[in-house]
Amino acid sequence: MRRLIVLTVLVIAGALSLAVASAQQGPEAIHIQHVKDRLYIVTGGRGTSAQGNGIAGNTTVFIADTGVVLIDTKYAGFGKAILDQVKSVTNKPITTIINTHTHGDHTGGNSEFPSTVVFIAQENTKTNMARMADFKGEKAAFLPKRTFKDTTSLLAGKDRIDLHYFGAGHTNGDAVIVFPALRTVVMGDLFARKWAPLVDSDNGGSATAFPQTLAKAIGAIKDVDTVITGHSTTTLGSGATVTFVPSSPVMKWADLQEYGDFMRDFVAAAQAAKKSGKSVDDAVKGLNLPARYKDYNMARAKEDVQKVYDESK
Ligand SMILES: [Zn+2]
Repeated sequence: MRRLIVLTVLVIAGALSLAVASAQQGPEAIHIQHVKDRLYIVTGGRGTSAQGNGIAGNTTVFIADTGVVLIDTKYAGFGKAILDQVKSVTNKPITTIINTHTHGDHTGGNSEFPSTVVFIAQENTKTNMARMADFKGEKAAFLPKRTFKDTTSLLAGKDRIDLHYFGAGHTNGDAVIVFPALRTVVMGDLFARKWAPLVDSDNGGSATAFPQTLAKAIGAIKDVDTVITGHSTTTLGSGATVTFVPSSPVMKWADLQEYGDFMRDFVAAAQAAKKSGKSVDDAVKGLNLPARYKDYNMARAKEDVQKVYDESK
């Protein structure tokens, strides 16, 4: 009997600690952080989407004269929590939401904002989003109403926002968003964190195009010193042994340049390994990248090398 009580207590304690853990990681766990001037980011939170369990994307908050522009809306269920965070820094309404790309950890909250909000994305991203369960039926009202192909601008003067598309990488519709007056670029998951990236082939992403796309962005964007990444956490390990490690969501221009170099060197090493007839496993073991990339999260390196091999057929 005593054993049963102990067991029951343990089970209840376990359930409670799980509940506490999920409360710490869900929409309640997000917080707003000042970047510069009228620019903030909302970081934190974990959730679930078609891409599996993961870490919510960063939401960028820009307070323009005419209202608030958001970039990305995290997972479904995060909309109200994002709005609460925005209300803590401004009374202005949200007028515009830009989605950097299709993934559910960046678009899931769209339908929790008023449908009067203008949703904007690169045209391929709109196509990708339209295939998602999150945007079927009535929820199609929360798909981008405005799209662009290569470049477009919103607002004017000190509020101007430039949107660019530089080619395939993480997906085939990754928007790069520049706030010229604030010398800041928002990279979405084209630069999610310092890692061997997720390349989503099902949504047109490409490992071999990724370095060219980054090089194009780095070459075209001028007078930027601050870089906002797609995520603020990185994961190490997998399955039951996964650990979550904070990763800075606000980086410097030099970090983006370094990431461009990393992707160039990574893909070149994988292509050279393929040419020399190495297996994917041997290619991963022999990547031998420069020491300056030693802190990069390489958990996805094997998948990425495989993609380079598949794309180089
Ligand atoms: Zn993504």
